[in-house]
This record gives sequence, structure tokens and C-alpha cells, in this order.
Amino acid sequence: MYKVVIGLEVHCEVKTNSKNFSYAKNTYSEYPNENVDTVDIGLPGVLPIANKGAFEKSLKMALALNCKTPDIVMFDRKNYYYPDLPKGYQITQETKPVGVNGYVMINVGGEDKKIYINNIHLEEDTASLDHFGTYSLIDYNRAGVPLLETVTEPCINSAEEALTFLETLKGIFLYTDVSEARTDRGQMRCDVNVNLKNEADEYITPKVEMKNINSFNNVKLAIESEVKRQIECLENGNTSELIQETRRFDEQTLKTYRMRSKADAVDYKYYIEPNIPPIKIDDELIKNIKSEIPMLQFERIEKYMKDYGLSRYDSEILVKDKKVSDYFEETIKLGVNAKSSSNFITTIILGYLNKNELSIDTIYLTPKMLVELINMVDAGEISSKQSKEVFFKCVEDKKEPKTVVKELGLTQITDDKTIRDIAVKLLDERPDLIEDHRKGKNTFDYFVGQIMKQTRGKANPTLTRDIINEEMNKR
Ligand code: MN
Repeated sequence: MYKVVIGLEVHCEVKTNSKNFSYAKNTYSEYPNENVDTVDIGLPGVLPIANKGAFEKSLKMALALNCKTPDIVMFDRKNYYYPDLPKGYQITQETKPVGVNGYVMINVGGEDKKIYINNIHLEEDTASLDHFGTYSLIDYNRAGVPLLETVTEPCINSAEEALTFLETLKGIFLYTDVSEARTDRGQMRCDVNVNLKNEADEYITPKVEMKNINSFNNVKLAIESEVKRQIECLENGNTSELIQETRRFDEQTLKTYRMRSKADAVDYKYYIEPNIPPIKIDDELIKNIKSEIPMLQFERIEKYMKDYGLSRYDSEILVKDKKVSDYFEETIKLGVNAKSSSNFITTIILGYLNKNELSIDTIYLTPKMLVELINMVDAGEISSKQSKEVFFKCVEDKKEPKTVVKELGLTQITDDKTIRDIAVKLLDERPDLIEDHRKGKNTFDYFVGQIMKQTRGKANPTLTRDIINEEMNKR
């Protein structure tokens, strides 16, 4: 038996107004070289300035990942040459990163697992290269964008765990508002390290690294393919193929290919960045930033299951988008039945939002209005089928549920006397049908139908049947 050992290094761009060390804008742009400053293209003699917002967000993420934070954070230079790195070095944090020794809780198939974080550090993104037939073009829009790198311990043991960790991490980025974490815009990218251990917990294959995988699904496929290759090499005695190296995952063939062996490994010659003074972190700052971290997905799911009796499935749907989760919690605060609210949100509201590509905070129905609507159903004033109709009318016409119910004339008749008066009159008119009923012919449904017709379907069905039954038995 083999044990799969996986470590991840996840790069994620931080959401800020400007770049990490310059005044250039940090926005997604369709046009190359639009957001560029002298610092970003590495002109000689210009000095970097640390971005306060990026630094505070990195600290927020470190705290959300339960990391220990140092008293002083320092920046370092990582020296290497590549055309996408105009300065010839990347500013990063090697000696005193913003967070160390943290952890993240994940849930895989109903089982909780702790994923240990070695460190999280703030650095800068590189420019992007576009390769053409005989030439390449450089776009500096991305150069200097604040980038947070999260490094896990090698404690992930399957492709599924890796995928769940990435989804959980993305959720934390979104909940803390540190990043939009959009993989489709390359904002979140992943390096994967994979090797195998035997039953005695000894490494039996060297570590293979796969760099810059830009979708979670590809991370899963790359791990599966590399694990398969390493096992096959072991079992076929092909051990010369097992060396510490960097491999590339190919989306077309779903296989990994050799890029460079450890022998060509780069020596980065790290040293402290002399142009940015160390940044002191005090207790006050930690306290303030901690207070800005909301309850995260993992804890919310536990709470919904334990306190509100929801299923894991429904809880996971509710917390997927923080806005939806906050909306749900708002309705709970207003005193609605948790299951009714969860059902209405996960089926009707999310169905509508997905279909129309809308966000829950843009629709007219506020949590308070949803509570009114659910309470009308619970009180038997309208049916649950009608509540769906009211919801659509409410969001489309921008009207309160109560107004819609009134306008559509949906309010159920639950008043005994109103229904009884109609019933008595109907029974008086048709003694022949009462006679038929006694002889065993079903004329009961005729009377129900007539009452529904006369009230235009508004009579409460259960009450109507009870009343007809009582009145027939009296005769
Ligand atoms: Mn990095």
C-alpha cells in the first residue's frame, strides 16, 4: 500500500486599489500596459513603497488561517532573471513572513481534517508573457500586484483533500474580502508537490513539483496522473524515472512531463530588501483586524447543523456565497423557522438568482419581507405554492409580499362562518345530492368544488372539507 503525500503552495492576488509597491492601479484590464508605474517596470533609481491596505489584508488572512504573527514583518529580495520580472528580483517575505504555523479545518465526505499551514507571505506578482510564433510580448499590468502565497505542510493525502482544501481556502479569501480569488482571471494559482510513502511512513519516491496550475479541477487531475505515474515507475522497476524534479501537467494528454531536474535548481540568493523598512505589528492592530474577520464557512456549517437542525448538504449550499449566508442569518434573527427559511432560499431564491445571474443583495425581497412571506404560509393565509408566485411577482414588480398577496387576491379564507354560510346555502339548494350521498354516491367533491368556485379557490381546503362533512351529517 502507498500513502500519497501532497503539499500545496497557493498564490492569490490581493484585492487593493493600488499595487503592492507602487501607485499604479490594481484593476483587471483588457488593455496591456495600462496600469504601469516606474516601480513596476524596474526603472533604476525609483523606490518601492509598501501598500498599507495589502499589508493589513495579508495580516487578516494570516489570522483567519490561525497563524502566529511576528512582532516585525520584513521584506526580502528573491533574485532571479526572467523577462516577466523587470527588476531582476521579486520582493517577498522569507525571513519574517506575515504568518507561520497555522491551520485550516476542512471536511471531506463528512470527515473533519486539519490542514497545517507552514507559512503565508506577501509578495508581488510578475508581468505576464504572451507567446506568438517567433516573438513574445510582455504585459506589465500584473507586475507588482500584491500576491499572497499560502504554503501547506505535506499533510494532504488525496486529490480530493487537495481540492477541498483549495475550495475552503478560496472561501476564506472571499469571506474575509482579501481577494476575489477568481481562477478564471488567474488570480488564484497553485503549485503542487507530490510523492509517496510506504506503510512504515517512509518516503519511497522523491518530491515532484508541478507549477502554476490555474484551475482546481486541473490540480485534481494533475495529482491523480502524477500519483499513477510514480506507482507505475515503482512497480515496473523504472526507478531512474523517479527523481526530484519539476514537471508540467498537460491538459490535453492528462499526463505530466519533465521540465527541469533538481540539478538545474535556481539559487535565489535571498537577502533583506533594503528599501522597505521592517513593519511593526502591535496588539492593537491584531485586535482590530481580528474583529473584522467574520465567522467562516466551516464554523457556519457546524452552527447550521447543530443549532438549526439543517442537513450538511443544505448548510453547504447556504454558506457558498457569504451574502446568501448573511441573508439567511438575518431571517433567523427576525424569528422565522430555520428550515422553512433554508428551504425557501436554497430552492426558490437561489434557483431564481442562478437563472438570472443575480446576487441576493440586488433583489427587492429583503430578509424581513421573506420572513413575512414564510409566516403567511405558516399561518395558512396562503399556500406554499402561492408563496412561490408571490416571490416572483415581488422581485419582478418590486412590491412587498403583502401588497402582492392583496393585489392577486390570494389571501385564503380561513374564516369558519364565511365558508359555512356558502356551504349551508349550497346544501339547501341540492337536497337531491345529499340523498345521493346517503345512497353511497360521491357528491361530496361536488360541494367542495362549488365552494372553491364561488370563492375563486381562496377557501382553505381542509376547513372547507370539514365544514361540508359536518353540515351533511346534520341533515
Ligand atoms: Mn511565490
